[in-house]
Amino acid sequence: SDGPADMSPELWERVKDHPCYSEEAHHYFARMHVAVAPACNIQCNYCNRKYDCANESRPGVVSERLDPDQAVKKVIAVANEVPQLSVLGIAGPGDACYDWRKTKETFERVSKEIPDLKLCLSTNGLALPDYVDEIADMAIDHVTITINAIDPEIGAKIYPWVFYDHRRWTGVEASQILLERQMLGLEMLVARGILVKVNSVMIPGINDEHLIEVNKAVKAKGAFLHNIMPLISDPAHGTHFGLTGQRGPTPMEVKALQDKVEGGTKLMRHCRQCRADAVGILGEDRGQEFTMDQLPETV
Ligand code: SF4
Ligand code: SF4
Repeated sequence: SDGPADMSPELWERVKDHPCYSEEAHHYFARMHVAVAPACNIQCNYCNRKYDCANESRPGVVSERLDPDQAVKKVIAVANEVPQLSVLGIAGPGDACYDWRKTKETFERVSKEIPDLKLCLSTNGLALPDYVDEIADMAIDHVTITINAIDPEIGAKIYPWVFYDHRRWTGVEASQILLERQMLGLEMLVARGILVKVNSVMIPGINDEHLIEVNKAVKAKGAFLHNIMPLISDPAHGTHFGLTGQRGPTPMEVKALQDKVEGGTKLMRHCRQCRADAVGILGEDRGQEFTMDQLPETV
């Protein structure tokens, strides 16, 4: 088909079987994640390290940690069982670029076994510029960067620290580094023809109005989708915005903001904030059915 009216045929061709990027594909194709990236190089105020990276996952989820060897076995087993599998993503439980060696090994070995599987990764962007050339060489064609602010003063309220260039940075300086690296990574990916989606976590009173500016900036740099996700606040899972905690936005507030930034860069409204070891068609995740101990003996 020619695809939806708001996409060029060329773009549609590249996203039509990616369930996260195409609302149509999201009913027919499956994606899976393998949680091979345990460590993270930044601290988000809404993160609780016991759980998956909150930038691409529902809060409070603990994914099955795998090494690249186990991950390759799992992907092959799932591909045999789920014929609609079209995408393999690495999105945590920490940062997929910080733990680059494991991410790279997993992708390289899987694409040798299953060459037509699309590869996708999600990152906070801090380490991203260092690996853009390798990402392009490996034919990873979709990357998600979580960008919550473009103003370091606002960023400082979201990120207490980043670990960069062998040391820990805090405050406005930390956010300045992170924001520059995210924008550089975005530019470098777009220059190489890689499709970039930007995720933003909407945090009422912190970056909600500011996300209109973020949307303009990422649009100008060539992001092809901007996904505004609500902060899902649950004190048990830890949101460390001051002593009183931080509420998440209401569905009406999310919709109002999405309506304000609509146009130009397509917004994704069907995202389900999936877990780092998700398997299946979006909305029908079968992550639990595919833990390592349940794989067939023969793999
Ligand atoms: Fe946590 Fe993800 Fe933020 Fe790292 S990038 S601190 S894993 S939410
Ligand atoms: Fe890729 Fe994110 Fe979709 Fe996973 S949820 S397949 S990382 S776009």
